[in-house]
Amino acid sequence: MRWSREAEAAIQKVPFFVRKKVIQRVEAHVMQSGKAQVELSDVDELKKKFLSKGGMEKEVKGYEIASCFGGSGCPNAANPVARLAADLEKIFERENLPGFLKSVVKGDLKFHHEFRVSLSECPNACSRPQIADIGIMGVVLPGISGEACSLCGSCAEACDEGAITLDTKIQRPIIREPLCLNCAKCIRVCPTGTLTGTQKGFRVMLGGKLGRHPRLAMEVPGIHSHDEVLAILKNCLKFYKKTSKKGERFSHLLSSLDQIR
Ligand code: SF4
Ligand code: SF4
Ligand code: SF4
Repeated sequence: MRWSREAEAAIQKVPFFVRKKVIQRVEAHVMQSGKAQVELSDVDELKKKFLSKGGMEKEVKGYEIASCFGGSGCPNAANPVARLAADLEKIFERENLPGFLKSVVKGDLKFHHEFRVSLSECPNACSRPQIADIGIMGVVLPGISGEACSLCGSCAEACDEGAITLDTKIQRPIIREPLCLNCAKCIRVCPTGTLTGTQKGFRVMLGGKLGRHPRLAMEVPGIHSHDEVLAILKNCLKFYKKTSKKGERFSHLLSSLDQIR
């Protein structure tokens, strides 16, 4: 969507903590009105709505699901996340988080109360899953097929982690699993099909946040299937609803557990 210069300048003056939401809402509003460009008047109208008393609460959905741009054709995408994001959304809708939050939070709901999920389609992690309540990365476990290796060296050159060496004696690549981030780059460059994906799935991280006490999310070991990720979300929401007494974020609850340990 195009933005006029005045509209762009105005959006930069919106407080940073609501800017992304205002941009999304402005574009949705402009699209609904059948226009192709955002004007200053559109920004002003939505800004007023957000910053008025109780205005933000009406916009609080209780959760936020953000995805990287892999689905728009990023060449690094290892495993798509669109279907998973849609299924996570259905779980959140059933859980009625705004209703839960209203029952525990004193005063208006704010965006910082929302439960945040961030999905990336590869370990480059452009959507920053490491600082979300639940971070998810699309990954592929590389393996070696029966196809002959030409020892071209493309895989070792492509691997930024130095996880691949070539064994000229047995004419095979060797993958050092502890170094591998499951990005699938080596598989994409292999001309012979010697390197292949043996498992597609998702890495899952829990409890990341920024703020006064930042914390990087902790990884749930392994590569998880679509259904396993949904089960992890359901368990996390169960724990969250049981433990959050004043609307504390999931990541805050997990960092409190760190202090007890
Ligand atoms: S996380 Fe990976 S797939 Fe997603 S936009 Fe970044 S590089 Fe592309
Ligand atoms: S999947 Fe990525 S990190 Fe793992 S060996 Fe291949 S290129 Fe290296
Ligand atoms: S595994 Fe594939 S990319 Fe790596 S050296 Fe062999 S043929 Fe080349």
